[in-house]
Amino acid sequence: MELRIQHLSKLYSNGVQALNDINLTIPAGMFGLLGPNGAGKSTLMRTLATLQDADSGTALLDNINIHEQKDQIRRLLGYLPQDFGLYPKVSAYDLLDHFAVLKGLDNRKQRKEVVEALLHQTNLYNVKNKHLGGFSGGMRQRFGIAQALLGDPKLIIVDEPTAGLDPEERVRFHNLLADIGTEKIVILSTHIVEDVADLCNNMAVINKGQVILTGQPLSLIAQI
Ligand code: ADP
Ligand code: ADP
Repeated sequence: MELRIQHLSKLYSNGVQALNDINLTIPAGMFGLLGPNGAGKSTLMRTLATLQDADSGTALLDNINIHEQKDQIRRLLGYLPQDFGLYPKVSAYDLLDHFAVLKGLDNRKQRKEVVEALLHQTNLYNVKNKHLGGFSGGMRQRFGIAQALLGDPKLIIVDEPTAGLDPEERVRFHNLLADIGTEKIVILSTHIVEDVADLCNNMAVINKGQVILTGQPLSLIAQI
C-alpha cells in the first residue's frame, strides 16, 4: 500500500495558494506532515480525504485515484478532522454504534464486537456509557480515533490531533497511534515536532503550500 501525491495545487478564491505543486510518496507506516499554522496541512488532509477537490494534480492510493474514484477511497479511509463535533448528550458507546451502522455494519452481534473492541483499543471501555459532553480533550481525541478506525480502513488521516492535549494525554495518544499497525498508512499532520520525532517513520515539512524537506525524522529534525 502506497499513497502517491502528484502535483497537487489549490488556489482559494481569496487568492491564497494553499497547495503549490505538492509531490509526496507515502509508504505504509506512520507519516508525519509537519508545518506551521497556515502551511496548507488541513487543505491537503481534506483533499486526500476526498472532501475537497484540488485545482490540479492528483493522488493515487495504489491505483485508486482520489478525484475519480471517491467511493472506493472512502471505503478505505479513516479521517479524523481537526475540529470534529460530538453530540454532548450521547454516550461513547451509542455514538460509536451509530457510526458503525452508517459504515454498513448491519449485524447487531458483529457490530457489538467491533464497537467494544475499538473502545478497548482506545482505552475508553470503562467510560463507554458516559456522555461525550463530559469527556476531556484527550478522551475526545481517542474517541475520534475509534470512530476513524471503524470499517478497518487502510489509509488513516489525522489532522492536528494532539493540539491542546496535556503531556500525559499526548503520550497516551502517541501509544494508541503507534499500535495501529504498520500495514496501514497513517498520516499525522501537526505543528509539534515531538509528534513526528516520537512516532513517525517518515515525514515531510511543508510551508506555504510547498514541500520543503522529506525524509526520516531523526536526520531531518537535526536540520530544522
Ligand atoms: P473555494 O475557492 O474552494 O471555493 P472559498 O474561498 O469559496 O473556497 O471558501 C470556502 C469556504 O471557506 C467559505 O465558506 C469561506 O467562508 C471559508 N473560508 C474563507 N477563508 C477562509 C480561511 N482563511 N480559513 C478558513 N476558511 C475560510
Ligand atoms: P494549516 O492546516 O497548515 O494551518 P490550512 O490548509 O488550514 O493550513 O490553510 C492554508 C492557507 O489557506 C491559509 O492561509 C488559510 O488561511 C487558507 N485557507 C484555508 N482554508 C481556506 C478556505 N476555505 N478558503 C480560503 N482560504 C483558506
